[in-house]
Amino acid sequence: MIYRPFSKTGLVTLPKEARDFLSLGADGGTITIDQLGRFQAKVTGPNSKQDELLPRRRVTDKGQFTIPTTILRAWGVTGKGEVSFHIQEPYLIVSLAGPETSCKLCESTGNLLGHPCIICDGSGKMRLHPMGALGELAMVTMKSRKYGIAFHTQGNDSGIPDVHIVSKSDLPAAYLKLVEVYFKQRLHTNMASDKLYRHIETGREVLASEVGKAFYIEAWTEQKAAGSIPENSSDYEKPHELPINEYIDQGVYVLSQNDEYELVDGE
Ligand SMILES: [Zn+2]
Repeated sequence: MIYRPFSKTGLVTLPKEARDFLSLGADGGTITIDQLGRFQAKVTGPNSKQDELLPRRRVTDKGQFTIPTTILRAWGVTGKGEVSFHIQEPYLIVSLAGPETSCKLCESTGNLLGHPCIICDGSGKMRLHPMGALGELAMVTMKSRKYGIAFHTQGNDSGIPDVHIVSKSDLPAAYLKLVEVYFKQRLHTNMASDKLYRHIETGREVLASEVGKAFYIEAWTEQKAAGSIPENSSDYEKPHELPINEYIDQGVYVLSQNDEYELVDGE
């Protein structure tokens, strides 16, 4: 994964590997970019026959281009951030990246029982995925082959999948147990009682907690603009975090009032 920052207007610089993959010349060229899933977009180069009906966007000689506002909005992005790039033939995939933080499993040592930690890839640092623990699980599953590990996930009545790990290598059983317990806990705290809704027309899915949090921040912004948050308040610089259940309750309330969304059940 190669990470690159993007500006508030969505301006980002393609890494050299990505420019080569897209066959962009020294003076740039044109690309297509289209949304793919909740936090990704797919990109094709100037000579591609894929998605040729999509509008083309200019890439400068420095490899810079602007991520369309429609995509940023669909990702729920309102300011600057980071994306990662990886190749998935025939596309270059751009993914919204979560913030980097010290690894929660190996506590930033990069190793577990003398073996490189699979969560942070031995670096001691991990990315919080915008999709939460499920997204993180998907990312780690992608890396699992390299570690000789197979992940099995199974849905159940609680809505929180069971995670089982099988080793094809000689990693100690205690290592596998640590990873398994880590995901069980992450998924549980992340998804407990959260509810998934789907936009009936676009199919876009949102978690109640995300919507609840967005409303909470919007309300704070309005109050601040109206001058009703005192300067000596601890909320003056930014709103304090609420327990996730409060975001969920708020989000369920908002989404259940909105005819454009339906509750996704039993998935
Ligand atoms: Zn780690």
